Amino acid sequence: MPDLTTQLIHHPYQPPADFAAPQPGVFKASTVIFPSVAAMRERDWKDKSAFTYGLHGTPTTYQLEERLCSLEGGTYCVLVPSGLTAIANVALALLKTGDSMLVPDNVYGPNKSFADGQLARWGISTQVYDAMDPADLAAKITDTTRLVWVEAAGSVTLEFPDLPALVRICHDRGVVCALDNTWGAGLAFNPFDLLPGTSPALGVDISAHALTKYPSGGGDVLMGSVITRDPALHRKIQRTHMHLGLAVGANDAELVLRSLSSMALRYHAHDAATRTLARWCTQQPAFAQVLHPALPDSPGHAHWLTLCRTDAAAGLFSVVLDAQYTVAQVDAFCDALQLFKIGYSWGGPMSLVVPYELASMRKKWPTGIAQGTLVRFAVGLESVTDLQADLAQALQHMVASC
Ligand SMILES: *Cc1c(COP(=O)(O)O)cnc(C)c1O
Repeated sequence: MPDLTTQLIHHPYQPPADFAAPQPGVFKASTVIFPSVAAMRERDWKDKSAFTYGLHGTPTTYQLEERLCSLEGGTYCVLVPSGLTAIANVALALLKTGDSMLVPDNVYGPNKSFADGQLARWGISTQVYDAMDPADLAAKITDTTRLVWVEAAGSVTLEFPDLPALVRICHDRGVVCALDNTWGAGLAFNPFDLLPGTSPALGVDISAHALTKYPSGGGDVLMGSVITRDPALHRKIQRTHMHLGLAVGANDAELVLRSLSSMALRYHAHDAATRTLARWCTQQPAFAQVLHPALPDSPGHAHWLTLCRTDAAAGLFSVVLDAQYTVAQVDAFCDALQLFKIGYSWGGPMSLVVPYELASMRKKWPTGIAQGTLVRFAVGLESVTDLQADLAQALQHMVASC
């Protein structure tokens, strides 16, 4: 009989195998145990019919990967520790010295920062194109372009591009097209089949998703995914993922698995409340413009109508303050909000607000966007009546202080 300390580590008890519950189990592992040296030697870390090491996946992360593939209509998935890591993983897998990348001017800001701060050091250059002008993308693709990012809707200004046109240009020129699919989240449109019914399917090559937003839904988990249909592309992404050791925590994977079941309901609730508030904002004279893809006057509204399910426009909208209001007054408006908290990110139950100075973020002032300070709202799951009253009192506060 082994010593008690040994027994507690090598205990013979095995629970019965027929346990079933609504939620998958949380498997935690760095070490995975092999039945023999031969089995260890034979096992290929890339082969997902088995397990090799915690870094390459556990039953918990495999399940999350499969469910995310179903959500986005893809075949292969890797999980990474944040949305930004998903963006970095794609670029590092596909680009080498001498290559170049194109991003839209309204791309998620840290994507540009990563390109300028990291990729540039490796001799990879990045150019900016106007997402609302497919001809501009076509003109900027060169012999060295290896990766084009697309985003729908665009960050902060929420212009909705002609996504099928942008994707076609990339495919015609033989350039990989990667979508930041955080806004659509797999619910607004299928990134791998943008125009259902067309054969062969027209879709992006890669979908990167900040699971931090709607899939987490709690404002508490940071995670990202990179999804593809093409096995060769997946292999490249998977190899970089392995070399960088980009594992996610089992408890975080569990939280996303738990939230995923209610994601569609939450997304539509965020959407409905956001439209109500955005429409109300169009009637307020202090706002020169309201940006939300489902509003007829918002840039790219017609593209949104063509591409998206009509009940899918996410939970974000922005307003451009009338030019008479100073930055300090706009800050005071944000500070006066009670339910909308000041903070980055979105997709959780709590409504959030961030003011933006667009001029410092963009190469040029975007077409169709009024001049003025911009405020971006992320609408949570509070009562829409309460949120509207909060906006009204903060507006009154700002106007009265002028
Ligand atoms: C939040 C966000 C990301 C990054 O996600 P993190 O998990 O915060 O790193 C990437 N793209 C878009 C569009 C986002 O909104």
